[in-house]
Amino acid sequence: MLVVMKKDATEANIQAVVDAAEKRGYVARPIPGGDRVSIGILYNKGSVDSGYFLEFDDVKEVIPVTKPYKLVSREIKKENTLVKVGDITFGDESIHIIAGPCAIETEEQALTIAHAVKKAGAVLFRGGAFKPRTSPYSFQGLEVEGLKILAKVREETSLPIVTEVMDCETFKIVEEYTDVIQIGTRNMQNFSLLKRAGKSKKPVVLKRGMSATLQEWLMAAEYILGNGNPNVILCERGIRTFAKHSRNTLDLSVVLSAKKESHLPVIVDPSHASGVRDHIIPLSLAATAVGADGLIIEVHHKPKEALCDGAQSLYPNQFEECVKKVNKIHSFIKA
Ligand code: PEP
Ligand code: MN
Repeated sequence: MLVVMKKDATEANIQAVVDAAEKRGYVARPIPGGDRVSIGILYNKGSVDSGYFLEFDDVKEVIPVTKPYKLVSREIKKENTLVKVGDITFGDESIHIIAGPCAIETEEQALTIAHAVKKAGAVLFRGGAFKPRTSPYSFQGLEVEGLKILAKVREETSLPIVTEVMDCETFKIVEEYTDVIQIGTRNMQNFSLLKRAGKSKKPVVLKRGMSATLQEWLMAAEYILGNGNPNVILCERGIRTFAKHSRNTLDLSVVLSAKKESHLPVIVDPSHASGVRDHIIPLSLAATAVGADGLIIEVHHKPKEALCDGAQSLYPNQFEECVKKVNKIHSFIKA
């Protein structure tokens, strides 16, 4: 349920509603909107008596929320959520490109790629230090050494960092080093991890599970918001289908549906969606055309030697071409 406060509601009257809800055993989350505050009433078993909240000073109206997800829903918040990372704002109608290798391999590799992607127009640097690999025999990432290299990249390039967290055990150290926490497709329904991410002050990129419906994905995001972290960026990264011509199938229409259902920014990962280098630029343009708020793209200067996902990594010159074309499409659709 949503308690909508009047435009000029006082802090004290907002707090009075929060306290009353909590006294009744609910969780109350104030949601600042464009011109007024609303309070989401959560974890109620059975229906809440709306008349009870209407009695409070400065309460304008009480609206039932019909969707199974509450805090992430446009029913509860009409305006786009703006997720800020340094000077960059996701969700403000612009398009932001995150780029870097699948995995951090060496300092030289990370810095070379970071300088190249920055020059081409990337605004955040990605790179895995803890890697979730299908095979236990594959390269598992440099772990803490990788995080230290990422810190060096930020220091040298001033690009904020996005890196994946795989479990609660390593959450604290990843959180300390990174600017944005990535939760991967294989962990989209790792509920302990989602709850822990909800306690973090860092923004979270939440990848869609490879077989998750939109509802399951939004419910996963709800865990993060429900635990106190409003800064979630959804990332469509391709789903499993019967297709054999590509690693996954990029579900572009989910970008439209996710943005309609939710106020959270939505970005697209064409690299994991396709697994094919030649598909990345066209898919990036298509994702831009449907209104994605950003892209996360794998880039490697020596993809043939990459320890992970070389076949789906752009060469730096291709990435440069990609950024130019994405910006053109973006200007065209916003014109
Ligand atoms: C990655 O970004 O390198 C990654 C492992 O992504 P996903 O979780 O989408 O497979
Ligand atoms: Mn990868």
